[in-house]
Amino acid sequence: MGSEVRMKVFGADEASELMKELRITAASGRTRSYDWRVAQLKNLLKICEYHEPEIVAALREDLSKPELESILYEVAILKNSIGLALKELKHWMMPEKAKTSITTFPSSAEIVPEPLGVVLLISAWNYPFLLSLDPLVGAVAAGNAAVLKPSEISPATSSLLAKLVGEYMDSSAIRVVEGAVAETTALLEQKWDKIFYTGNGRIGRIVMAAAAKHLTPVVMELGGKSPVVVDSGINLQVAARRIIAGKWGCNNGQACISPDYIITTEDYAPKVVDALKGELEAFYGKNPLLSKDLSRIVNSNHFARLIKLLDEDKVSSKIVYGGERDSANLRIAPTILLDVPRDSLIMTEEIFGPLLPIITVDKLEDSFDVINSGTKPLAAYLFTNDKKLKQKFVMTVSAGGLVVNDTTVHVAVHTLPFGGVGESGIGAYHGKFSFDAFSHKKAVLYRSLAGDAAIRYPPYTDGKLRLLKAMIGGNIMGIIRALLGFA
Ligand code: NAD
Repeated sequence: MGSEVRMKVFGADEASELMKELRITAASGRTRSYDWRVAQLKNLLKICEYHEPEIVAALREDLSKPELESILYEVAILKNSIGLALKELKHWMMPEKAKTSITTFPSSAEIVPEPLGVVLLISAWNYPFLLSLDPLVGAVAAGNAAVLKPSEISPATSSLLAKLVGEYMDSSAIRVVEGAVAETTALLEQKWDKIFYTGNGRIGRIVMAAAAKHLTPVVMELGGKSPVVVDSGINLQVAARRIIAGKWGCNNGQACISPDYIITTEDYAPKVVDALKGELEAFYGKNPLLSKDLSRIVNSNHFARLIKLLDEDKVSSKIVYGGERDSANLRIAPTILLDVPRDSLIMTEEIFGPLLPIITVDKLEDSFDVINSGTKPLAAYLFTNDKKLKQKFVMTVSAGGLVVNDTTVHVAVHTLPFGGVGESGIGAYHGKFSFDAFSHKKAVLYRSLAGDAAIRYPPYTDGKLRLLKAMIGGNIMGIIRALLGFA
């Protein structure tokens, strides 16, 4: 039986019906209360706590994701995110006092966060559990109704999410719609109050164009080529282990912030290659195609895409480690390439897989110009002991986030905003930034009916003008003089 026979059709009518239902819920005010938000966050926590084996199994089915990676990068990060929201929510929801100006004296002001309404969350396949539910943490913490559209490329996780969200969450406000392009297109025709999209920039443009029709604001969590700059004179063994952990240890390189390429100096490059080779062999053995500690490539399209990058003539001769592949099992061995041409496909497209090219520069500082000459990456990494180099890196390299002397771990620091810049994304989330991403910051000014100054009312006399100029200039004596002569 074909999947189109089994699957219920979700088209324009269903999307419109769903939106109507969620609008009624949002308008009822049900999702605004602190208690509702806490209850939903607790339900999300229950999903993590009671269903870990099913989550791990779904991720294994979709990606052969090793259990340790599933628990560490999908479940534990999500639990932390929920725990933080539960702990801080009261504080996040509180209006923030704001200063007022003399022009509105006497007055007081505050910034009141309010839910946006009904939001759409479209997520990607590589961390399909975390990338679906972490934005939902922000959406419900901020008091919104939400529709989650997981990726069809990770179908086991998508269907598990539909089941668990259906079982645990308030279905009058939170729903999962499974599906691919047709279903997402139907959803995108609706008027949302925010669209939070995670995926590649090509589809990001389609999502933004659909959002623009309704003036809907977006968060775009995109990707890019995240570089790693490696200085000499460092503990290369630790650096190599941390590069490997961020590359092959994160879904076999299929992670948005995985190192995409390395830049180092020509004389240091062979040492970097040796260090990586040594640690790779220690981690994954002599035949990494058989390692259970490496995810597989998600599907045959992505496998073919990666092989095309690897088999380009001017690139395949540059392999210094790895290069083996097993198309039947969608496996590609960790592969290092040295001195690949800058105009090759592998150096112009986001790799998103287990291939790691190394390019070399004469002086390490030149690497910052190399990075800044491309589109802005989601992350950039530097390994060095040199304080000045660190400062220069932080001040000159533009990327969504930077890490010095490690890779990818900033994703777990919830006090840092996570998001891109330029082609790597728009907006950010995690921790309080998630709450903010799904809230409108409403400006509220309170005045009293007492003390009604005549200065703003006609007739506009010279005395009023003098007083106004003195007030704008902060000239106290001028203000007093103007007030005394003010008829
Ligand atoms: P994907 O193929 O799962 O697509 C993402 C979502 O877009 C899916 O839900 C899919 O159904 C939907 N989609 C596909 N075609 C569509 C269309 N024509 N119209 C509307 N929606 C459509 O994921 P992907 O894009 O392959 O994900 C990998 C990319 O995402 C990489 O570039 C990676 O760097 C980036 N990424 C970014 C982050 C981040 O947090 N910034 C996280 C993960 C992945």
